[in-house]
Amino acid sequence: MTPDHRHRKRFGQHFLRDSGIIARIIDELDPGPDDQIVEIGPGKGALTHALLARVEALHAVELDRDLVSYLQAMFQHRLDVHQADALKFDFCRLALSGKQLRLIGNLPYNVSTPLLFHLLGACPCIQDMLFMLQKEVVDRLAAAPGGGDYGRLSVMVQWRCHVERLFSVPASAFSPPPQVESAVVRLTPYRQAPVVVDDANRFQQIVLAAFAQRRKVLRNSVGGLVRPELFERAGIDPTRRAETLSLAEFATLANLAAGPEHSGDADGGSRDKNQHRD
Ligand code: SAM
Repeated sequence: MTPDHRHRKRFGQHFLRDSGIIARIIDELDPGPDDQIVEIGPGKGALTHALLARVEALHAVELDRDLVSYLQAMFQHRLDVHQADALKFDFCRLALSGKQLRLIGNLPYNVSTPLLFHLLGACPCIQDMLFMLQKEVVDRLAAAPGGGDYGRLSVMVQWRCHVERLFSVPASAFSPPPQVESAVVRLTPYRQAPVVVDDANRFQQIVLAAFAQRRKVLRNSVGGLVRPELFERAGIDPTRRAETLSLAEFATLANLAAGPEHSGDADGGSRDKNQHRD
């Protein structure tokens, strides 16, 4: 790669050029010498440089082959670059001897939502994640029930992670500048989930179906997965819409619908598990 590498739009390349923002991101991560750090999409190494001032070595996952060659030449043995698609990458294989990973990245915005869903599957191997994202995506991650930002991404991420919106970043901090505003968020996987979910698949199906038709009332949007009488057992009005349901209410509904053994649970035990967790 030449120093004047032309950015590739299809890879969502917007390189950080504001040293103040870079320093702020690294301060938020506050890397320790023994941390197992993995950078997603290091690009030309703006964050990598700053990270390697604080830690001896780190891993990176980069899709663009030209950038991989450049990074290898630049950082040599201190950076273990995996030329791969982060959407398919098995992050847990980097968690050697059970040490959890600390993920960081100015993520490619064009794939940020599927990437976040992919990373949810690796949460048991992850200590925390510090990401630059489109501000609109950070708004969705942090959204509370009742508003237009609240959706499937909010529910699924908040089930797995504590979400902290940290600060906004102007387009002028990047080259080339993106068309959208950006923000930095920290996601910290829970060791103990905030709600009890008996059947993760059923929970995911219900959340997916509810928000796939978010204008419809629940009776219609999730009617194929939740029998009518279970709404009453859950204490949820079936004429409500998905965006009004809290994480705990989704969990309660999913637990009741999780199978014959749960739907036959006459005392509504699954409901009680999440009653105080809103
Ligand atoms: N970290 C650099 C910075 O802040 O200047 C670059 C950030 S740029 C927004 C996103 C980076 O992710 C680019 O280097 C791009 O090539 C890389 N990338 C895009 N899609 C990717 C994918 N699916 N897997 C891994 N890396 C990807």
